[in-house]
Amino acid sequence: MKVAIYPGSFDPITSGHLNIIQRAANIFDKLIVCVMVNAGKNPMFTLEERVDLIRRVTKDIPNLEIHCSNQLLAEFAREQGSCVIVKGLRAVSDFENEFQMALINRKINPDLDTMFLTADKEYLYMSSSVVKELGSYGANLSDFLPKEIIPDFQRKLGK
Ligand code: ADP
Repeated sequence: MKVAIYPGSFDPITSGHLNIIQRAANIFDKLIVCVMVNAGKNPMFTLEERVDLIRRVTKDIPNLEIHCSNQLLAEFAREQGSCVIVKGLRAVSDFENEFQMALINRKINPDLDTMFLTADKEYLYMSSSVVKELGSYGANLSDFLPKEIIPDFQRKLGK
């Protein structure tokens, strides 16, 4: 069984993330979305909230599991019996960092490959931080966030 892991902060999950999840779930037997604990970031949503938002917008994808982890990704992958990490690439600016991460992960776990899916063109410019900034100005978010979670996002913003 081919198991892939799609890691990220998902703070919150955007339509761009969801697009990658749907495409990767079609490629692999099982996809694990892993919400990573990143001490360097000050998240808007707690880990549990982020997992819950992902669960709600992916409920129709049968071969998907949602986990969270504060481990090294390469170790988490080994534990889950996965040999592929899926990443989304939006622009050349994503590439340098992702290339470095892919090499480091492979160094730690030589069985681990990283597969890059290019963002679909309507999501190229989208990131959780851009969505948060737009939200703080009261912009319409229907092109950016799955519609089921827009009320949660607005509640967080106090709008
Ligand atoms: P962000 O950069 O939005 O904070 P994350 O850290 O949650 O995102 O990113 C998790 C993964 O999803 C990364 O591989 C990132 O490149 C990818 N990703 C984020 N937004 C998009 C998008 N709009 N289209 C494709 N991939 C994306």
